[in-house]
This record gives sequence, C-alpha cells and structure tokens, in this order.
Amino acid sequence: MNDLLSLFPPGTRIAPGGQLVIGGCPVDELAEQYGTPALLVDENALRQRARRYTDGLAARWPNSRVTFASKAFPCTAVYRLLTEEGLGMDVASGGELTLALAAGADPAGLVVHGNAKTDEELRLAVDAGAGLIVIDNFDDIDRLERIVPAGGTQGVLVRVTPGIRPDTHEAVSTGGAGSKFGLLVPQARQAIARLRGSDRLRLDGVHVHIGSQILDTKPFTQAVEAIAELGEFAVYDLGGGLGARYTYADRPPSVEDYLDALVDTARELLPAKARILIEPGRSMVAEAGVSLYRAVTVKPGEPTFVAVDGGMGDNLEVSLYGQRFEATVATRVGGGQPCALVGRHCESGDILSAGVPLQDPRPGDLIAVPATGAYTYSLSNNYNGARRPPVVFCRDGRSRAVVRRETYDDLMRRDLP
Ligand SMILES: *Cc1c(COP(=O)(O)O)cnc(C)c1O
Repeated sequence: MNDLLSLFPPGTRIAPGGQLVIGGCPVDELAEQYGTPALLVDENALRQRARRYTDGLAARWPNSRVTFASKAFPCTAVYRLLTEEGLGMDVASGGELTLALAAGADPAGLVVHGNAKTDEELRLAVDAGAGLIVIDNFDDIDRLERIVPAGGTQGVLVRVTPGIRPDTHEAVSTGGAGSKFGLLVPQARQAIARLRGSDRLRLDGVHVHIGSQILDTKPFTQAVEAIAELGEFAVYDLGGGLGARYTYADRPPSVEDYLDALVDTARELLPAKARILIEPGRSMVAEAGVSLYRAVTVKPGEPTFVAVDGGMGDNLEVSLYGQRFEATVATRVGGGQPCALVGRHCESGDILSAGVPLQDPRPGDLIAVPATGAYTYSLSNNYNGARRPPVVFCRDGRSRAVVRRETYDDLMRRDLP
C-alpha cells in the first residue's frame, strides 16, 4: 500500500473510509463534481517539484534557468503556474508559443524548438521577442536570415546530435546518429561557423537533448561531454529527458542526483561563466497527475477485464511507447488479484495496465492511475468520439477545473455545413 501511495503525488493519503485523497480532496467528491474520466493535478506537488528543480539548479550553478518543456503538459493553467514559479518555457510550435504567451510567459524566457519550423512560426517567435530560437537545420538559418528585420538581432542556439542512444523507447530517443533532430557534430560546426558571420542572428550557444524517460545519469553526462567539445559559448542548453517513476520497479535518478551529474560534468568541461539551461518536461509534471476513471464493466475470465470510461483517448503513452502504469480501485486502495485494466476504445491495444492487481473491482468503482501528468493531456484525442477530459487542480482540500470536459458540440465545432 505504501508502495502504491509512493507513485501518487506527495501528500496523497487514504481517508479512514479507505478512499484516496488527492491534494486534500477525496476522489469520490471530485468524481461527483467533475465527472470521469478526469485528469487531477495536485497543485502543491507540481509547485514543489518545480522548486526542487529551480532551487536545485540555482544552488549548483547560479547562472542558470529551468525551462519547462511544455509539450509535456501544454495547458494555459500549467504554463501560468510554472511561470509563477519562475521557469522559462520551451515551446516547439506556433501553438505552444501562443499558449505560453497567453498564459503570461515572459517572451525573453522562451526557447523555441522544432525540426520543421515554418516561416509563419519563426515570424511569430521573432515578433514575440522569443529569447532563443534553436537552430535544428540549415533551412532554419536561411529562414531566420530573411525573417529577422535588418538592424535586429535574434539569439539562437545550435542543436547538436551527439550520437548518444540512451536506453529508452526508440520513439523518444533523439540523440543518436540517424535522429531527425539537430545536427551531427561536423554539421553543427558548419552551422556555428555560419552563424558567427551573421549580422542578424546572434549565436548564444549550443543545445542537446538526447531523449525522454531516461533512467540513468550516464547518458546526460555523455551529452555534456559531447557538446563541450564544440567550443566555448555563453549558453549551454542541456535539454530534458529525466525519467519519471511510473511503476514500483522504476528507480529514476532523483532531481538532485540528475542535477549533480549534469553540473559536476559542467564544472569540469564548460566555461565557469556560461549560462546553463535545462528543459525538463516529463519529470516535472508526471508525478503530480492522476487519472480518475469509473469502471463500466467487469468481465470475469482469463484475464478479468476491468473496462473504464476512458483509455487511449486520454492516455496514449501505453499504446505509443508501451509505457507501464500501475492502478488501484480508488475507494479500496491496494491489494487484489491481477486484472487487465482496459479502455473503451475500439482497439485491443487500448490497455491502461495489464496484469494490475485490483481489489474486488465492480462496475461503478472509481479507478485511479498514478503518474499520468506527462504527455497525457497533450496526446489526448477524440478517437471514437471521446470527449477529452477536464483538468482539475487540487490543493489543500479545494479543487477547480482549469480545463473543462469537451462536449458533444465541441466535437462538431470545426465542421462546416
Ligand atoms: C521533449 C523535449 C524535452 C523534454 O523531454 P522530457 O523527456 O519530457 O523531459 C526537452 N527538450 C526538447 C528539445 C524536447 O524535444
């Protein structure tokens, strides 16, 4: 039971009646008020996580900033909260840029990514005053040379592909040779040389991001070593990628261990005056989120299928990357026999958790899946006409919806007669 609770946001407890209490809010009351499925976010947990990152990095390397890789949870309430906590925002499209600005993010703290940035998106970024645009390819340089007005200067970083393959799912490995992202070292050197001759683009430094859900510090250290070889710059953006803890078995490095590994290597190899940026996404938001479902049917057999009112419409991590999640009946936490917790979508791959123990599951039970704060909101979809769930912030016993549930009308909103 303690093991199970440890996957939920810190501060989650079990009420005397046996039900989960998240951010001080009993789950049955949340289900009553907001319906299911719902994505619950423990606001204190998210703020604490942000502070561990910001305080931890500042203590180790004062000239630094934590930039949230916003694709992990791009809703304005999250941008706003993390902006309040002092983070910069990493955006990878015109859409994310627009959301960040709408939420009050400081344009100077924006880091603009993308391996296929259009003219329109680059114009948006330049016009908004985005602090840094990350050069992924030579076309980015051509485009920006055209878009940045004469007399203007746009700060840029060059994204380097260091040839490192961390032990993670192929779909979220981005730093190996053959990656579609960034420039291999020889090409990166060419881009750097070209940018040094540019009068509109100011080369501030280099960027590296090797992948996601990385459960070991070694690849991060190697990435710092790889970009250190490119020379001395004012800024080194070391990317994101630290793994989140989804299952009992996952033992990701702590934020502090991760920062120690990065900064120890930086002290050895990077100029002491350099500014260091990091871009955590998944590990910033995963643990603060909990998906709350209602069991619709329980089909006994081998295995017993517990089918809920959500699934791959609101959590694609399982079918896209084979991510393992744990789960519990939210009113009888822990224990039970292994079941297949499945969604309601028309695919056999629509599984939330295979072989997960659930205690005496019955139709109507609330089911909670922990560690769903990252990439669930962003990858949610309308498959089978699913209405995307609300996002509910919970804090000190109070809750508020920051995103409402979609309606059937929403499903037709873009249709033209
Ligand atoms: C996705 C991404 C991140 C964040 O990765 P996480 O695994 O979510 O921490 C950081 N930087 C870039 C460039 C990315 O594409």
